[in-house]
Amino acid sequence: MLIKFMAPVSGPLVPLENVPDPVFSQKLVGDGLAIEPLDQILRSPFDGKIIQLHSSHHAITVENDMGVQVLLHIGLDTVNLKGRGFIPKIRVGDRVRAGQELIIFDSDFIAQEAKSLVTLMIITESKNGKLKRGGSLEFPLELEVESSAERFDDEIIIELPTGLHARPAALLANMAKQYKSEIEIIKKSGGKSVSANAKSVVAILSLEILHGDKISFVASGSDGAAAIKELSEFLKNLREENASVAPIQRGLTGVAASPGVILGKVYQFREKKRVIEDKASLISVEEPRFKAALAIASMELRELQKQSKSKGIFSAHQELLDDPDLMTAMHSLLEQGKDAAFAWLKVIGDQARRLEKLKNEVMAARASDLKDVGERVLSLLLNEETFAPDFSSDCILIADALTPSDVLQMAESKVLGFATTGGGATSHVAILARSLGIPAIAGCDVQILNIPNGEEIVLDGNRGEIRRQLSEKEKEEIELRQSQFTEKRKVALAYSKDAALTTDAREIKVTANIGSVTDAVKAVEMGCDGVGLLRSEFIFLDRETAPTEEEQLQVYQEIADILGARPFTIRTLDVGGDKPLSYLKIPQEDNPFLGERGIRIGLKHPDILREQLRAILRVKSRGEIHIMFPMISLVEEFQEAKAIYNEECQKLDADPTSFKVGLMMEVPSAVLMAEELAQHADFFSIGTNDLAQYTLAMDRGHGTLSKKVDALHPSILKLIEITVKGAKKHGRPVAVCGGLASDGAAVSILIGLGVTELSVSVPSIPLIKSAVRENSFSNNLSISKKSLNSSSAGEVRLL
Ligand code: PEP
Ligand code: MG
Repeated sequence: MLIKFMAPVSGPLVPLENVPDPVFSQKLVGDGLAIEPLDQILRSPFDGKIIQLHSSHHAITVENDMGVQVLLHIGLDTVNLKGRGFIPKIRVGDRVRAGQELIIFDSDFIAQEAKSLVTLMIITESKNGKLKRGGSLEFPLELEVESSAERFDDEIIIELPTGLHARPAALLANMAKQYKSEIEIIKKSGGKSVSANAKSVVAILSLEILHGDKISFVASGSDGAAAIKELSEFLKNLREENASVAPIQRGLTGVAASPGVILGKVYQFREKKRVIEDKASLISVEEPRFKAALAIASMELRELQKQSKSKGIFSAHQELLDDPDLMTAMHSLLEQGKDAAFAWLKVIGDQARRLEKLKNEVMAARASDLKDVGERVLSLLLNEETFAPDFSSDCILIADALTPSDVLQMAESKVLGFATTGGGATSHVAILARSLGIPAIAGCDVQILNIPNGEEIVLDGNRGEIRRQLSEKEKEEIELRQSQFTEKRKVALAYSKDAALTTDAREIKVTANIGSVTDAVKAVEMGCDGVGLLRSEFIFLDRETAPTEEEQLQVYQEIADILGARPFTIRTLDVGGDKPLSYLKIPQEDNPFLGERGIRIGLKHPDILREQLRAILRVKSRGEIHIMFPMISLVEEFQEAKAIYNEECQKLDADPTSFKVGLMMEVPSAVLMAEELAQHADFFSIGTNDLAQYTLAMDRGHGTLSKKVDALHPSILKLIEITVKGAKKHGRPVAVCGGLASDGAAVSILIGLGVTELSVSVPSIPLIKSAVRENSFSNNLSISKKSLNSSSAGEVRLL
């Protein structure tokens, strides 16, 4: 006899094995179904009687007249909610009909407060004895689930020799995006199933689908069946590397991450793909093994720190080795009897994915650091000989992603430069490449992954471009440019400590953007004329509590001492929804870039702002100290912040005029009020990174749009012109501290527009100083006029 079950909630099915709770995934309570609910009502799967309702109202058991018992469980770890978010509509003993409402639940609240919203229907008891416990569902039940989800069980075996790497994954994701339905791709390998969103390239890649893996799809929505059909056909036909792929173009573009033009042969570098078995072990064995690996990794990092000029990066890695969140997560998995390598891979992967989701450059950099450290420890746990990729050949390295450690090893190898499909110009990898003088491109077209090994290409790190199929003439030109660039760098370094004057003797201050004491040391070595931007949030990030006034004072004082008589601009805390702090409760926002960030946080939490201002006011410095408020969009915000500053000066008996107090110009509304703001502010510093994103309405960290966020767009140049004009009315200086200042192509234009200080990334100081020396002010003026009349960033770059 067949029993029909109704789905207790509607939504797509999730393989039970993927439910992140071993009680369910290992079928310890019984076999059944897991559904990601799209509605908020739990219904009875059949006619029967309520035999149990948990006191927390998150779980209920229903029994039918044949003695089949079904446990319905809403979410995971929801017992901890102690009934909050659940309204039961029945009592124990009630008779219910199939489809009758049993519990109403608040899915938003549960999604935020509990581990997962996944809802389970588990057959816990069957009186006729045909359901085999621990095995698959062999009970003659017909699980007729009335869910809107379509399932495609016909498994497709991946025939592509290289597996589903970035290019076919991108094609698949693009195809999936044409459909409205939610589509999951499921991989079966070694008896396990894992699934991911089929519309996300990153999610597909995270499944690491290899040759021979079995794939199926599940979709929910009206066009689900059609979607599954097309995607399955695509995968079935994907047999050869070049099948259904457009020919690789001659020129491929990305983001200019580190300058320099090089000619070299391609070496395709693929990240090691590891399959680590989930084998059971004892915490008494695994924990000491893990601790030993951490100790060795820490020793290795100390060694790298000594060798590297960019010490900050490796000390950040060092900190991750005793990050309390990572260690707690790890301990809990070891307690569950997991193997240390398996557990570590999971902990690092989960955390990195969480950071990547924040779509913020700082957080993305942290995710990349995390993977780097993760890889180091994992190699040790797996007793691998070396964790370094083979960088022995004279080549241009091409990869999905690289880590700072990889780049550091390149410096000692013959690698000429690299291009990655991931990353951006502000990642640690890019910063390191610039400091080591390795030309690089990030965020490149995924087609680069298909260029055959050994093919000769040009990597242009100035323009963010790769060119193929070169003529002899082109090769000669590149070789010439290559040697000219090397020479230019040498000259720039030789004169980096001298003032930067235009050929008609106007001095432009070239200051540094820093985020730590180490950066300050490096900036002085590189010949900076001061610090134009201390991103003070770096002192606040990655901590359990806010730094105290004393702690902050110590850092600011140390930097001031390093700078001596040079000016020092400290930006007050610039965090928000996109750069969260664990100890500052900032509500989740749909649009964090348009939400509470920058000065809005300072004004909402004045204690933090006051404490920071007090620390700054107490610094004893030979040079001028400038205080800069971030993200000002309204005149009254600046006035309010300045009033707080004045009050703190009064409390400390400090002379308010002994500090310069200014603001970041990074929101168009502030630019348009520049003249008014200049009455109150001592200086402006233009943050072109944010100004470009707010003007062009393109998220600066967006996966595809960020390539178009070019601050050389005439619209941004016009806003810079307005800022300078407004500032001049009250005799205020204007600096640029956004990424545009470090772009050699922008120097003439910015000077021509009237900017008198360029605050740049530390490694760029010598080259930006030389760029200042290349032209006269009058020449710059005419270039800037032409650029204001251009119609695109590309046209401006040609100028
Ligand atoms: C900017 O927005 O240009 C800037 C310098 O600030 P940040 O990059 O730190 O947001
Ligand atoms: Mg900014």
